[in-house]
Amino acid sequence: MDMKVPICDECLDGDDVLCEGCQKEMEEKNISEIAVKVSRFLYSLRGQIPSLNDVEVKKIEQATDAIIVVTAAGDGPRVVGKNGEVVKQLAQEFESSIRVVEDSGKSEDVIKNLLEPVEVESINTVYKPEGTERKVVVSKDNERRVPISTDDFKKIVEDLTGEKFSLSFE
Ligand SMILES: [Zn+2]
Repeated sequence: MDMKVPICDECLDGDDVLCEGCQKEMEEKNISEIAVKVSRFLYSLRGQIPSLNDVEVKKIEQATDAIIVVTAAGDGPRVVGKNGEVVKQLAQEFESSIRVVEDSGKSEDVIKNLLEPVEVESINTVYKPEGTERKVVVSKDNERRVPISTDDFKKIVEDLTGEKFSLSFE
């Protein structure tokens, strides 16, 4: 099987308890509960949407306002689906908005993806006695349209890029 998701093939095919390995990953918080459910759902769609056979999903997390699906670089469009069909099915099944973010390895891309359709004004480096901090600035006028909470933003960017960014509305 070529679909790669956060749980193993054996667990992907089942719908019950996880194997010891995946259970351990979950206890160590490397896999979330929603990751198991979304992975299995994507797997169940393969017959209907064959392009899902080739995707790599690296991480799935529940944020406050959306489920965040992180794909390998280049796999975003296939997880979104033609005319958004995969994302629509996910949204319906999980009664949540879905955000697909490609892990391109570049923090700027991840940040842009997470905030879409809201534009980033600038990314600034702030020098403080405690160390440098990077700040993503979004116009105050767009604050209401930002699809993710400030805390989720910080957490997910750090998870994906290993770098710390804050989000500021100015
Ligand atoms: Zn497993």
